[in-house]
Amino acid sequence: MIPMVDLKAQYLQLKDEINQSLEQVLESCAFILGPNVRAFEEEAAAYLGAKHAIGVASGTDALHLALLAAGIGDGDEVITTPFTFIATAEAIRYVGAKPVFVDINPKTFNIDPVAIESAITEKTAAVMPVHLFGQPADMQRIVAVCEQNGLKMVEDCAQSFGASIAGRQTGSFGASAGFSFFPSKNLGCYGDGGLVTTDDDEIADRIKMLRNHGSEVRYYHDVIGYNSRLDEVQAAILRVKLKRIDDFNRNRRGVAQLYSELMADLPVTVPYEDGVGVHVYHQYTVLTDRRDTIMQALQQAGIACAVYYPVPLHRQKVFANDCSGLGLPVTEAIAESCLSLPIYPELQEAEIRRIVSIIRAALNG
Ligand SMILES: *Cc1c(COP(=O)(O)O)cnc(C)c1O
Repeated sequence: MIPMVDLKAQYLQLKDEINQSLEQVLESCAFILGPNVRAFEEEAAAYLGAKHAIGVASGTDALHLALLAAGIGDGDEVITTPFTFIATAEAIRYVGAKPVFVDINPKTFNIDPVAIESAITEKTAAVMPVHLFGQPADMQRIVAVCEQNGLKMVEDCAQSFGASIAGRQTGSFGASAGFSFFPSKNLGCYGDGGLVTTDDDEIADRIKMLRNHGSEVRYYHDVIGYNSRLDEVQAAILRVKLKRIDDFNRNRRGVAQLYSELMADLPVTVPYEDGVGVHVYHQYTVLTDRRDTIMQALQQAGIACAVYYPVPLHRQKVFANDCSGLGLPVTEAIAESCLSLPIYPELQEAEIRRIVSIIRAALNG
């Protein structure tokens, strides 16, 4: 049995250190906004090259609060990608804005900067790119479009912790950015968790208030806020893992490289690296017109695989009113042919070879 992600393998490697950290948290009985959250925020800010990093309760909350604090709200339009997890667009809706979906680049699967430009209206307030599957979106052109048109950019970095462009981390290009520590993400905790990064002092202050009931001084509330804090248990785990994130991501890149080498002669399109940014392979996603055949063969061999994402957001029932008649042909074609294979830092060479040999046999059979 080969899963999409093997959380147990990573836990066993880090068990002593994680258990020790957890015991310290339990003994201290400081569970909310204590020393581990403060230390993790400092360590994450240093790693990400951000002036501020603020821990929150999930990646979804990180995006929600990042948009709110950047001043996006009622009546605004936010241009984003339809080829992402629903949370990207949910966050836009939470603040009262409207998600405007535009098509993607057929090679990188990331939002197309030219399509962004064509979708700008008087109501457009922001652009929300997703660094999908761990590959940085085209920051150079997206930043330029935003600057030329006076738009804010809020990055969805849920899948891109540690990805960079010329040494600059994703999450440091926009007004603010949201990260997720859902267990299966490149940097994952053991529950829900998230992080907002920003270089803007005012945005940082707003996020700190918003995550804690709109309060800076206890029992004095300036705005309607939320209960959205990263907790000490999760922060303690994240501190152990943050030290290893570059190794984790290096291993992911190694897995991807071997997959792509072994599949070079097969009729599947392996992931494209644009050569501009460092792809950290949250997912290893191929394109194939024989997806059902491959999925069936893998399933029979006890190997997991998954379709991320089968229904693009502009085709989801929840956005039916916003998107009726909207056609995004590149996204729709990719949604029909994409297939993600198991990838995690601990995936072994022999397992990768076995997975590819099963795909090979399925395509030859
Ligand atoms: C996982 C994910 C989120 C949401 O993160 P949670 O921590 O699960 O709330 C948002 N956007 C993308 C692209 C994601 O993959």
